[in-house]
Amino acid sequence: MTPPAVSILTLGCKVNQCDADEMASALAARGCRVIGRGQPADIYIVNTCTVTATADAKARKLIRKLRREHPEAHLIVTGCWAQRDAEGVAAALPEVNLVVPNTRKREIAAIVVNLSPADSGLSSPAPRARTRAFLKIQDGCDHRCTYCIVPHVRGRPTSTSMPEVIRRVEELVEAKAKELVLCGIRLGAYGRDLGDTSLAQLLRALRGTPIPRIRLSSIEPMDAGEDLLVEIADHPSFCHHLHLPLQSGDDELLAAMGRGYTAADFAALVGRVRRVLPDATITTDIVVGFPGETEEQFKRSADFIGRIGASRVHVFPYSPRPGTPAARLPGQVSSRVRRERTECMLAVARHLARAAARTWVGRTVSVLFEEREADGHLTGLTEQYMRLYCRAPASLVGQIAEVTPTQEIDGALLAEPQSPS
Ligand code: SF4
Repeated sequence: MTPPAVSILTLGCKVNQCDADEMASALAARGCRVIGRGQPADIYIVNTCTVTATADAKARKLIRKLRREHPEAHLIVTGCWAQRDAEGVAAALPEVNLVVPNTRKREIAAIVVNLSPADSGLSSPAPRARTRAFLKIQDGCDHRCTYCIVPHVRGRPTSTSMPEVIRRVEELVEAKAKELVLCGIRLGAYGRDLGDTSLAQLLRALRGTPIPRIRLSSIEPMDAGEDLLVEIADHPSFCHHLHLPLQSGDDELLAAMGRGYTAADFAALVGRVRRVLPDATITTDIVVGFPGETEEQFKRSADFIGRIGASRVHVFPYSPRPGTPAARLPGQVSSRVRRERTECMLAVARHLARAAARTWVGRTVSVLFEEREADGHLTGLTEQYMRLYCRAPASLVGQIAEVTPTQEIDGALLAEPQSPS
C-alpha cells in the first residue's frame, strides 16, 4: 500500500519550525512520506502563527490557495492560530477538514495515520537533519507582555530535561549537523520548571558534545543575566551573536508593554555583551506603532537601535490581538501611520545591516555553508549571523570554512574561499 504523502507548511517563528520538524519525524516513523513544498500531497498540514493579524491573514491565504490547487487533498490546520481560535478558523475556512490546536499537535501523526489507508507499520527514513539544526528545548511563557498573544496560545513555560536535550544534540551531531540553534518561546525561562537548572547550566553541559556551533534563537533582555554571559564568554562553540528583542527604545512605551527593563538597562546589557565578546553582533526586534506611540517616541527607538549598532532588526508593526491588555489601550495608532513608521524603521534597519556588514570586509570570518545557489555561489551564515556568498566548490556545503569577505552587498558579504576547517 502506498504511504500517504504529507506536506507540512509552516508560518511564523523558529519554535513553530521545530514543531514542524517533530511532526515530520513522527509522521515518517508511522510510515508517511513527508514531502517538500511544491510536490503534490495527499494531506497538507498548515502550521499557523498568530503573532499579528498579518500572520492570520497569511495563513488564511495559504489555506485557500492549497484548497484551490488541491481540491481532493485533506487539509489540517494547526499551530498558534488554531490554538487561539479553533472555532474561528473552522468557521472562516470551511475548506479545512480538521483544526488541531497546539496542545494536540503531538497527536497529529496518529490522526493522519487514522485518516489514511496507510499501514502504520510501514517505515520510511526520518527527514534528514539540517546543517543548521533547530532544537526546541523550551515552550510557553508567563511574562505577559501587554501586546503578546503567545502566552495565551503556548501556555506556561515548560522545558525539555537536560539529559534529553543532550541525547538529541548527540543525534544531531551523528546526523552531521554543524550548528545547533536552541529554540524556545522564552529560552531564558529554560529549566525553571525543572527545579535546579538553567540555560547557563545547559550550555555548560553541552560543552561535552562535539557540536561545532551553538546559537540561541533569542534571549529576552530580562533573562540575559550574569551567569549566562559568564558561560557564553568562554564557551568553545557559542557563536558570537545574540538576538536580544528590544521592542522599543522609549522607557514609557517599554513600561506600557510590560517589558521589565528600560532603554538604559538594555544599553548596559549590550555593553556587557560587548565587553565579554568584543566581536559579537546584536540583532533585535522592534514593535512599531504600539498604542500611544508618538512620533518622538518612534524616533527615539530608531535612534536607539542605531546607537547600540544592531546588525539586523526585525520590524513588527503593532497588531492588536484580541484578549491582550494592549488591544484595549487608548491611543491606537492608525494603520496608515503604522505602515509609514514600519517603512521608515525598515529603512533604518537596512542602513544598519549594511553598516554592520561593511565592518567585516577584509577580516577573516567563519562561515557554515548551507547550500549552493543557482548562480553557483555557496551561501551560509557567518558566526556573527551575517549572510555570506562565496564562489567555492560544492563539496564545501555542510562545512565550516574560513573566508575573507571582499565586498558588502545589500547587507550581505561576498568572499573568496581560503581553507576548510
Ligand atoms: S516574553 Fe513577552 S513577547 Fe516574549 S513570549 Fe513572553 S509575553 Fe510574548
